[in-house]
Amino acid sequence: MKIAFIGLGNMGGPMALNLLKAGHTLSAFDLSADACRKFAAEGLAIAASAAETVAGAEVVISMLPASAHVEGLYLGSDGLLGKIAPGALVIDSSTIAAATSRKVAEAGAKRGIAVIDAPVSGGTGGAIAGTLTFMVGGAEADLERARPVLEKMGANIFHAGAAGAGQTAKICNNMLLGILMIGTSEAIALGVANGLDPKVLSEIMRRSSGGNWALEKYNPLPGVMENAPASKGYAGGFGTDLMLKDLGLAQENAAAVRASTPLGGLARNLYAAHSLGGHGALDFSSVIKLVQAKAA
Ligand code: NAD
Repeated sequence: MKIAFIGLGNMGGPMALNLLKAGHTLSAFDLSADACRKFAAEGLAIAASAAETVAGAEVVISMLPASAHVEGLYLGSDGLLGKIAPGALVIDSSTIAAATSRKVAEAGAKRGIAVIDAPVSGGTGGAIAGTLTFMVGGAEADLERARPVLEKMGANIFHAGAAGAGQTAKICNNMLLGILMIGTSEAIALGVANGLDPKVLSEIMRRSSGGNWALEKYNPLPGVMENAPASKGYAGGFGTDLMLKDLGLAQENAAAVRASTPLGGLARNLYAAHSLGGHGALDFSSVIKLVQAKAA
């Protein structure tokens, strides 16, 4: 299958490599010359522009930061929807506003291009291992067309509902993740302040009723888990500013349906303070710095 892949960041790059390994013909592009260079060295064919990647593509996949990037890529007089062949399938895996996903899907339908939203969970580790969870919004038939491609990048594929429903499921999940990372950080910092060994405490909580994904795979304290972003200077992973974006989407969504999300709102404010403190580019687990005692 001829696939165009746009957005070779922390997630998109490894996802594209898994499709290449599975034997698909890929044409890839990123606005960042560094990202293009890095993945060209890994074997990806890099196109000169996004428009060039989609020439003759049967499937177009995008993995961009936020709604504005996705709108800018696909919509408007010079947008990609005017360049993709009718009959092709677009899979947008970026985490963006559900309303934007619906807008792109409607614009695609007018041109005979099927668009599904397929945001992911599983982090950069899941992107590399090809074990992501996809949450799909769109027509069931379009998900079935996408399935053989998604299966090369993920281990779990859910149909959340109509266009935009994948995004709604994703922001519910990430609101919970943002909250639980702060809670886990507070508990570890409290234990350490009382002289507990963070590895022992983390293991106790992991096997107890406080057990959660952060304790399983993504401990926020450096040195507890060798492969977690915390032990790599909080580099790579899932940026604080991306978590802040997702918590903002959750609050916008909550306001629209008059839902009560007090911890989601507090979490958004705490990540915002952390970002204002100069940590926006660090992995979101660095939020532990807000509650951690400074080394004397
Ligand atoms: P990233 O910032 O590492 O990568 C995004 C890439 O998109 C960058 O390389 C950027 O240059 C590129 N880009 C932006 N606009 C572009 C355009 N118009 N054309 C081509 N390239 C463009 O972000 P990421 O961590 O890979 O995350 C991507 C999306 O996936 C985000 O929506 C994020 O919320 C979501 N997500 C991330 C993780 C994670 O752990 N990092 C997990 C799940 C979901």
